[in-house]
Amino acid sequence: MTQSIACPACGAPNEPEAGKTHIACSYCSATVTIPEHMWTKPMPQVQKNFSNARPVTNPEIDAPDLLRKAQPIAIGAWNLFAAWTWLRWLLPTCLVIFVVGFVLCVVLGALLFGIGSLQ
Ligand SMILES: [Zn+2]
Repeated sequence: MTQSIACPACGAPNEPEAGKTHIACSYCSATVTIPEHMWTKPMPQVQKNFSNARPVTNPEIDAPDLLRKAQPIAIGAWNLFAAWTWLRWLLPTCLVIFVVGFVLCVVLGALLFGIGSLQ
């Protein structure tokens, strides 16, 4: 049951269109504002040209398909995380090995220099 809206310009009754807040008067083409309480949701459009028809995506129905599509992303993210945890261990270890090696070189060099200067 739809109420008609009187056109503000000519007073002709107009049927509110579903999913729209403004309509053009069918008699004088003036813009008729649909009152907020008469707003309706757009009716589902019947697809007649099936060559262009695309399946309606419903997250609940398509969840397994979406999960299957998202799987490579999840695997990639996990691999990235694994690489990061490995790097987090590797970087400080390399730094420690480098610092220890550097200190050892300096100490050994100083020792050798000290021994050399004694003679
Ligand atoms: Zn009108």
